[in-house]
Parts: sequence; structure tokens; C-alpha cells
Amino acid sequence: MSDANPYPLGLRLAGLRVVVVGGGTVATRRVPALLDAGADVLLVSPELTPALRAHADAGRLRWEPRRFVPDDLDGAWLVQAVLDDPVAAASVSAAAAERRIFCVRADDRTAATAWTPAVTRHGPVTVAVLGGGDPRRAMSTRDAIRTLLGARKGTLLTDSVEEGPLPNSFGQRAPDAGRAPGRVALVGAGPGDPELITVKGWRLLTEADVVVADRLVPGLLLDELRAGVELVDASKIPYGPSRSQEEINRILVDRALAGAFVVRLKGGDPYVFGRGGEELLACAAAGVPVTVVPGVTSSVAAPAAAGIPVTHRAVAHEFTVVSGHVAPDSPDSLVRWDALARLRGTLVILMGLKNLAAITATLLAHGRRAATPAAVVQEGTTGGQRVLRSTLGAVAADVAAEGFRPPAVVVVGDVVGKLDA
Ligand code: SAH
Repeated sequence: MSDANPYPLGLRLAGLRVVVVGGGTVATRRVPALLDAGADVLLVSPELTPALRAHADAGRLRWEPRRFVPDDLDGAWLVQAVLDDPVAAASVSAAAAERRIFCVRADDRTAATAWTPAVTRHGPVTVAVLGGGDPRRAMSTRDAIRTLLGARKGTLLTDSVEEGPLPNSFGQRAPDAGRAPGRVALVGAGPGDPELITVKGWRLLTEADVVVADRLVPGLLLDELRAGVELVDASKIPYGPSRSQEEINRILVDRALAGAFVVRLKGGDPYVFGRGGEELLACAAAGVPVTVVPGVTSSVAAPAAAGIPVTHRAVAHEFTVVSGHVAPDSPDSLVRWDALARLRGTLVILMGLKNLAAITATLLAHGRRAATPAAVVQEGTTGGQRVLRSTLGAVAADVAAEGFRPPAVVVVGDVVGKLDA
């Protein structure tokens, strides 16, 4: 092969046959990206690593448990020879060349007709780096670019994005050029630490035209939005709670129908006492496409931040998350507190401070022991985190005495104190 520059290309492999010859660690690393690209993967190898076998067992690829024969390449668009035996790899190369199929060689780059780049992906953007024949140089360059892209600079990826259908290489837009229809993403912002949003949630946030944020959303996340984004503070919407929910639904739908990409950013996980379902239904009823991005919920993260695991071997094999915003004796309560009192596992109570005295009294009345360890975590995972350790019998009085305030979770169960040295 000559030293001429390689010609970079993005292969669109959906439904196309790709043959992978070899079933070792290199094949294990290469196969997932082929599957991700939708390729119809045929794997030829007498032996497979357990990870590859799992793909085969799940029907994600076809496995021929034998050595390579040239006919394996019939109908293939690409072949990866990932064998450490150069003679076997050369025979794959030769069969590929005869059929005019590009062949990647893991054993000898100079004998290959195609190279696999080092890759980093950020949503729709794929950065592929070739190191001029030196895979380590490709990887270190890729790592530097990944750091740059991951440095919370979503603008890098989005500022040049033009609205409407993308032009083709001749600069022509599709005939129906106009504003692309809008959509809504319900994104979990995590429990408070701005670093506890998911990678996907963060990316969508940096791409948004409109962000509708909750009171519990970490302010720092909003600090980093791109210029020009419309920020709606959902906690400042007047009217009572149900009117304001209608108002939020209306804002989501109206902005999306006008073509905007709207991110509804919600504390913790959108579906854990977050009314995410109502917002989804409102968008669906208006024909607006919705994506839901789960978040790290405070019901697990706030205890964790205070050193409390919600489950622990031989201590708790269950955890129950319950809302305490309705008093136990209220006709509106949907919670069987009597049944919860009889559970042995961990109880995590959200929105429970106001009714804590009534809740603990109810749990005690139905048989949970007063000595059961309990803890309260206020503003978990944030700089303002406060933790109180107590017992089920005393926690309500302690919370009042110490002046704990929402947002806080109450944890009841033997897991409290388990990790204390
Ligand atoms: N969807 C959110 C919960 C919304 S309900 C989630 O998955 O986390 C709001 C309640 O969540 C608060 O009253 C409080 O009980 C709890 N909460 C949210 N953030 C919290 C935090 N950082 N620390 C402690 N509790 C928190």
C-alpha cells in the first residue's frame, strides 16, 4: 500500500452485510460500533469471547463457528480481519481484494485497504481521527477533542447549526425548506449537583431554543445555556398549582408548535413525583413529539450523598419511595401507610417534612419500631447539604428543633448508619 493520504468517509451501514473474521478482544471492541450503525454483522470464528457470544445469543449478529472461507464475503460491503494470525488475515485480505471489498486489518495496517479511526461521539456529531498510521497518535488526538467537547461547551456543537432542513453539498435545501417542526424533551436535571445531569440531558439542554426550568433545578446548569435561549422559570408562574401546570403545558406546546426545541428541565427524574407524565400527555395530545431523558432521582442520590445506601446486603432487600405531601389521615391519601409500617426494608419519604409528625406517628401505630434508625437529608448533593440522624420515634421533633427545611428526604430503616465507621 502506498503512503498516500487516506480518504475519510462515513459509511452508512444500516442493513448492509459486514463480515468480521475473528472472535477475540479486538473483535469485541469493533463489533458494537458496527451494530450501532445497524450493520448486518456476520462473525466468522471458531471461538468467541463471552461478550461476543452474548451478542450472538441475543440474535444481534450471525455467528459461523468455524474458520473463514472466501465465500463468507459473498454479499459483503466491508470486512474486518481481526485475527492475530497474519497468514489467515492475508487470506481474508486477498479474498476481499478479489471481490473489491474494503478490508480492515488489525494485524497489519500497511496491508489494509481501510483503517478504523479513533472515535468520539456527541449526539449527532461523530469525530473520527486517523493518526497517519499511528493508532496511539489517533487516540491521544481523539482524547483531546473529547475533553474539549465534553467541557460543557455545548455551543461548540450547536452554534453553527442552521435552522430548517440541512443543505446538500451543492448548498441546495430540500424543496420544503421552512422551519423544522419543534419538539419537547423532558429532561431530568438530577438532584442538585450540576454534574449529576446525564450526558444526554446536558447535550439537549445546550441545544434548546427554550428551557422551562423547575425551582429545584441546579442554577449552575442554567448559567451555561447558550446565548439567545428563552428561559422560562416555571416556579414563577402565578396561579395555584394546577392552573400553573396547565400554563406550563401550554408553554411547552405553544413554543414547540411554533418550531422551537423546548427542554423541560425537571429536578431529579421527570417521572418521580415530577408531573412529567402530565406534560408528556399534553404534548402528545397536541401532536408534539416528546423525548424523555431520565434523571438521577433525589430519592436515591440524597441518601447516597449522606452515606446511606438505600439497599445493603443482609440489611434491606427493598426500598420504597413514597410522597408525604398528603397527610396520612387525609381522604386524598393514596398511600397504605399501615402496609408500609409492616415492611422491613428502607422507606424513603419525599416532600414529607410538613407532615412528618403525622407520618411517623402512623408508622409507629402500625408496628414499625420506634428505635428504627432514621435520617433526614436536606439539599442533598449540593453545597448546602445538611444531614440529621435520629430514630423513627424522635425524628419529627429533631427536624423541628434543628430547623430542617425542604427540599429534604427522610430515610427510615436499618440502612441508616450501616456505613458509619
Ligand atoms: N423528581 C424529583 C422529586 C420531585 S418532588 C426527583 O426525582 O428527585 C420534590 C421533593 O424531592 C422534595 O420535596 C424533596 O423531598 C426531594 N428532593 C429533591 N431534591 C432534593 C435534594 N437535593 N435533597 C433532598 N431532597 C430533595
